[in-house]
Amino acid sequence: MRVVFRRVHKTFVQKGQRVQALSDVNFTIEEGEFICVIGPSGCGKSTLIGLIAGLEFPDSGEVYVDSKTVEGPSPDRIVVFQEAALFPWLTVLENVEFGLKIAGVPGKERRERAIEAIKLVHLSRFVHAHPHELSGGMRQRAAIARALVMDPKILLMDEPFAALDAQTRQMLQVELQEIWQKTRKTVLFVTHNVREATFLADRVLEISARPGTIKREY
Ligand code: ADP
Ligand code: MG
Repeated sequence: MRVVFRRVHKTFVQKGQRVQALSDVNFTIEEGEFICVIGPSGCGKSTLIGLIAGLEFPDSGEVYVDSKTVEGPSPDRIVVFQEAALFPWLTVLENVEFGLKIAGVPGKERRERAIEAIKLVHLSRFVHAHPHELSGGMRQRAAIARALVMDPKILLMDEPFAALDAQTRQMLQVELQEIWQKTRKTVLFVTHNVREATFLADRVLEISARPGTIKREY
C-alpha cells in the first residue's frame, strides 16, 4: 500500500485558539516499507496516523492511499496504540477473533486465522488467558495480533512500546522486525525514541515541533 501526503495542513481548535498541528507535510511511503516517524511530543505524530487511518481529515492538501483520497477508516489501515485496549472480559483468542467476527468471517476460519496471528506474536501458550493475566509486553503482543489478523495493508503503530520497560521493549522491537520480514506489511511506526527508530526503520522521517513539518529524512 502506497501512502502519499501532499501539502497537508491540519489545525485543531483548543479553548478557542487555533493550534496548527501539521504544516505543509509532504512525503511518500512505498509499498512494503518500514517507516519510522520521530519528533517531540505534541509535534503532530498521532495526527499523522489519524489522517492515514481516516479518523482525521486535512484542512488543506491531500492524503492518498493507493492513489485514492482517504475518506474514512478501513480494515486495510489498522492502528496499534500505546495502550493495548483489549476487552478485559475476553480471552486473548476472543480478543483477536473479535474484528473478524464483526466482519462476518465464519467461526472455523476465524479461529484458524486468530491462532495463526497469535503464533506470530509468540502468545500461543496464552490463548485462553485474560488481559489481566498478561504482562504489559504480552498485552501489546496481543494487540499486534489483533491488528495482524485483519490482514491490513498498512500497520499504523502509535508509540506502541512507549509504556514498556527497556528490556521488553527491545524484545518486541526484534519480534516486530521478524513479523515484518515474514509478512512484508507496510509499517508506519511512530516513536520519540531515536534509537528505536534507527533500529527498526528503512527510513526515518523527523518531524519538527509545532507546527509539525518534515524536518529531515534519513
Ligand atoms: P504527538 O502525537 O506528536 O504528541 P499530536 O498529533 O497528538 O502530537 O498533537 C499535535 C498537536 O495537535 C498538539 O498540540 C495537540 O494538542 C493538538 N491536537 C491533537 N489532537 C487534537 C484534538 N482532537 N483537538 C484539539 N487539539 C488536538
Ligand atoms: Mg501521539
